[in-house]
Amino acid sequence: MEKNERTNNIMPRVQKRPEMPIIKRKCYSCSKMATKPYVYHVVPSYSYGAQIPIYQKNAPKTNRVELRGNRKVLVYNYCNRECYELRKPPELYEL
Ligand SMILES: [Zn+2]
Repeated sequence: MEKNERTNNIMPRVQKRPEMPIIKRKCYSCSKMATKPYVYHVVPSYSYGAQIPIYQKNAPKTNRVELRGNRKVLVYNYCNRECYELRKPPELYEL
């Protein structure tokens, strides 16, 4: 007799829902908890006390994603674009 292999692979009736991690971020504008935040990244200038390397024309440009430590990208979270327009992150370059 032929063995029906399909019967061994029947999916269970009750499928567990894949648990999606809910990302909650406090809105920088209205302080509500946004589950699908509008994220705004700010690439900062050098922080106070940090050693600023001398500018070299021929220095290789660094990809902003690869920046670490003092040059870490700041992240501002918003509910949506409207909240971003209501309260934009401080302009670090103008401080
Ligand atoms: Zn908001």
